[in-house]
Amino acid sequence: MRQCLTSPDGGYYTSRTNGHDQFGQKGDFVTSPEISQIFGELVGVWVVAEWMAQGKIGSGVQIMEVGPGRGTLMDDMLRTIRNFKSMAASIEAIYMIETSTSLREAQKKLLCGDALMEEIDIGFQSTCKYLDQTKIIWCEDIRFLPKDGTKSPFIIAHEFFDALPIHIFQSVAPTPNNMPIMTPTGPIARPRDSKPNLWRELLVSPTPPPSSTTSTPPSAPPLEFQLSLSTAPTPHSTYLPLTSPRYAALSATPNSVIEISPESLSYASDFAIRIGGSTKTPETHKPTPSGAALILDYGPSSTIPTNSLRGIRAHKPVSPFSHPGAVDLSADVDFLALAESAIAASPGVEVHGPVEQAFWLSAMGIRERAEMLLNKAKREMVAQHQENMEAEDSVAMKLKRIESGWKRLVDRGPTGMGRIYKAMAILPHVPGKEGRRPVGFGGDVTL
Ligand code: SAH
Repeated sequence: MRQCLTSPDGGYYTSRTNGHDQFGQKGDFVTSPEISQIFGELVGVWVVAEWMAQGKIGSGVQIMEVGPGRGTLMDDMLRTIRNFKSMAASIEAIYMIETSTSLREAQKKLLCGDALMEEIDIGFQSTCKYLDQTKIIWCEDIRFLPKDGTKSPFIIAHEFFDALPIHIFQSVAPTPNNMPIMTPTGPIARPRDSKPNLWRELLVSPTPPPSSTTSTPPSAPPLEFQLSLSTAPTPHSTYLPLTSPRYAALSATPNSVIEISPESLSYASDFAIRIGGSTKTPETHKPTPSGAALILDYGPSSTIPTNSLRGIRAHKPVSPFSHPGAVDLSADVDFLALAESAIAASPGVEVHGPVEQAFWLSAMGIRERAEMLLNKAKREMVAQHQENMEAEDSVAMKLKRIESGWKRLVDRGPTGMGRIYKAMAILPHVPGKEGRRPVGFGGDVTL
């Protein structure tokens, strides 16, 4: 998954220099910010509301986005935030965590226009066109960004975690205690009192050549790769499924399949340490936790994802093992695992949600905002009517787009995005304010 998506040599996100776009009607998939500007605007409003609830932090505010795609979400967010002057003035810098060069360039064009882009030690930087002289800094991995307990980061992750690699494990019936453990350098004896490992990893392996005894040729050419169950423990199967009691509960049911994304867990704990601090290293100690992370993605609310690795090409589901590097790969996000990882990493955070995207967007006022945009477009239509029919047609199209866009985002039916997508927030834990719920998660705006 890692190689197929982000290898500098042929990766899906990293090697699209031939003009093929991943996003939009002509690309492979459409994301919420690309469907409606309201999505990014409401994410911006959420950030402003959190900033206010935390006492209108005066300086050291960082806006961060991981996996910003074409930059549309950040663009809509910043256009919104700029209307709140004192929040805009508190922003020290904007950080974009992006591994793809071509997407970084697209984001820069959208957010900075013709401003100069210069190389710096952790990546690249330019100046934001919305906020006076505010720097936008790009780097490939959040680990390159120093953690500084004096800053207040507001971190957005939309459809980012689903692109991070997973490991898949299957529980198998226990083997006799005296079976040796297989290692890359050969078998080693099992310690006498060790429990048999009940998890085996599903690995990507080449499809074996068709057997010569098959009389009828297969109708489709065989896929080059397939998943196969490892016959012995792997380095990952010896520890990853043991990291949470949620997995242990399933290990006694043979053939249970679970997916774990260690990279996602490190991102969640990184967010938590930036917000809540950590007592483990002095530079990450944070006497007053601050900032927030908003994670929007698809996956189950509380169960462990299973059999969710999927391939998408030109808006159609395809085998994740076909055309490596040309197919988008993703897997369901394990929200509870992210929450567990965040809470374990920092004593200074709490987690809210996940809630369904339909709930979050409705609570954030999607209907009201759509009505405002529709009324504006209708006024334009009346004005255009006096001028020419062609312009009137284009306004009619715009009206349709606004209407179908926002409805798709909150549609809770099987083809809509309202139920499958979820929102979850990592917030600073402030003693004495335990009961506070953030906006969109059941709470009101607090000033
Ligand atoms: N948030 C955007 C794009 C989602 S696609 C939207 O909603 O439209 C996933 C994004 O994550 C792309 O920008 C991709 O290049 C980036 N990405 C994927 N894997 C990454 C990784 N390991 N590190 C940093 N960025 C990554």
